[in-house]
Order: sequence, then C-alpha cells, then structure tokens
Amino acid sequence: MAGARRPAPANNAANLKGAAAEARKVQSEQLSERAKAENILSPEQMRSGNVPVNAGGLMMTMLGGELRPMTSDDLAQLRQKARELGRRFEGGITARQVVDMSLSEDRKRARTQITTVIPAGARAMKQGGKVSALEVRFMTNAGPDSDVSRHHVMVEFTGYLEQVIAGEDTAQRAAVKLRKKGIRFNCDCGRHRYWYRYLATVGDYNAGPREDGFPKIRNPNLVGVACKHVLRVMSEIDAGNSVQMFLARAIEKGRKSGDGSGHIRQLQKEADRMADKQAARPTGGRAVTGDREFDRSRASLRKASRATKTKPDKLANGSKKLEVLAKMNTADGDAAFKRMVAEMGIGRAEELIAGLRNAKK
Ligand SMILES: [Zn+2]
Repeated sequence: MAGARRPAPANNAANLKGAAAEARKVQSEQLSERAKAENILSPEQMRSGNVPVNAGGLMMTMLGGELRPMTSDDLAQLRQKARELGRRFEGGITARQVVDMSLSEDRKRARTQITTVIPAGARAMKQGGKVSALEVRFMTNAGPDSDVSRHHVMVEFTGYLEQVIAGEDTAQRAAVKLRKKGIRFNCDCGRHRYWYRYLATVGDYNAGPREDGFPKIRNPNLVGVACKHVLRVMSEIDAGNSVQMFLARAIEKGRKSGDGSGHIRQLQKEADRMADKQAARPTGGRAVTGDREFDRSRASLRKASRATKTKPDKLANGSKKLEVLAKMNTADGDAAFKRMVAEMGIGRAEELIAGLRNAKK
C-alpha cells in the first residue's frame, strides 16, 4: 500500500500569494459536495427514532467498533451522545482546552508532522453592523500522506472587541489576554470535516460551515476535538510569540478604526522568516531545545490528555476490523466491503481507509 503513495508535495504553507482565494475555493467545493451527499443522518431522522434506509439497506454505523446496520437502540444512543456533547461545551472553548481535550494520537501527529504554522491574515467579523469577533486565517503544512500541500485553519477570537475597547492595556498585553479567551475554529482537512465538524457544530465552536449530520461511521462515540493542523495552531496561539504579535497588530488596527473593524495581512517577508525559524526546529526527540517559545508550544502538545470522553482503543479496534474486512478474500467479505462502499460512496470510503492508515502511525 505504501508503494502507491504519492510523494508529499513541497511545503508551501508560507506562500501567501493567492492563499485566501484558495481557502475560499476549497470551502465552496466542499460545500457543494456536501449539498450532494446522501447517507447523512440528519437531526430530524435521529429524532424520528426510525432507522433511515439508504441505497436499499438500513443506514450503517460503527458504534461498538464494528460496521453494521443501525438499530433504533443505536439511534437512541446517538441522540444521548449528542445531548451530552452539547452540555460539555456550554461554556465555549479556549485554545488551551482544545489541546487538553484532544486525543493523544492527534497531538502526536501535530507534534511530529506539522512543522509550519503561519498566521496569514485577520479581519474583523460583523454581526448586525457590530464587530463580533476577529477571524484569523492560519496556514499549516499538510501531513506526509496528504494529497494537498497545505491546510487553511480559521480561528475566530470571540473576545476581540473587549480587548479593542480595553484601552488601558497596550496592544501587546491585550493580545496576551485575547489568546486565553474563547475561540471557534475550522480546518479544511478530512479529519476535521468527517470526524470533528459535527462536534464543533453541536458544541457551537465551529467557524464557518456547520455539520449537522452525526458522524455515525467515523466517530460514533464523539471522541476527540481537533485535527493535527488545528492542534498545532492552538499550541501557537497558546504559547507562540509570532501569533501574539500578529494579534497585537490586529488589535492596534481595530483601535485605530475605533469600533474594531478592519483587516490586516501578513507580510511575505515575515512569513518566510517564521517558516525558516520553524523549519529549523526538531520534530521529535528532546523536550527542551532552548528555543523557549517552541519548547512552550511543544510542551503543551505533550501534556497528558484531560479529555473526559476519549476511547481511542475502541476506535483502533474498529479500524482493525475494517482492515480485516478489506483483506478478507471471501464472497462474504467482498459483499460486506461493497455494502460499506455503497453506503459511504467511493470517495468517502477512500478517505476513511486513508484515515485508518494514518491512525496507525
Ligand atoms: Zn485539519
């Protein structure tokens, strides 16, 4: 399988030209794909209590670690999990909490595979004519098995206006406070899209598109919180000086306009400088390198998970069973695999298999 893998494209996470347009294009492509998607378990269907029929068979789930047709008991369990999830995030979420609540497998990938994080641009978002949040667009490199070269991570800072108004603090001090306040986020990768966007929607910390379809195949237990790209961005928000300086610039701009409105862009020269500095850092090995900013942000990705609902063993178990299924050379195995592909569509099946492969690393 590894032989068929495409070589990872060059890291162009610091190349700012055309990046904002690319982020918009990817999002609109994903939205039109989503609009066409069948086999989505909608909140209405969940409430109805009747297992939906899809492509002639009952809708499938991986609840319990094995791919099988859903029962109405399963539906009741999924409803319960969604309710618990909503309660878990009632107070919103901070960058620090995203890291703390993440799965250790996602943190490990963030630490070892995501080397470049660049804040590329920021703009004040408005609601009813009033500034409601600061949206910062980050770029990261993609992992080794990805078929794209970079990802766009959007983060909305909901405490922005408060820091613009708090004129007694310097912009730098205000930025320090801002990064500890509430955020919402989005990533354009498959892990966020298929595993975590539903959690973000129910938890009301999604920036950008909503996902109301329960991840009944990929994440039926609703574990984890963020992909490796988001986690790497969160560790920089939590501890990185360059992000703090960028936030301070945005606050300064907002104070100049008076009501917080406006936008700022990263300079290509500065992005290159940041990328070079980050490229010189080791991805494994010693916990302390002497680069204080880096050590802090990496230490945050090393901490033991404080997640209350992590069941990675169950997930790994489900992955193993799917793999066995894929390798089974029998008519039953083939039929089961075909049902799975029909149920998800070939694109999503490939995505899932790629995800399983990644999950083993
Ligand atoms: Zn991602």
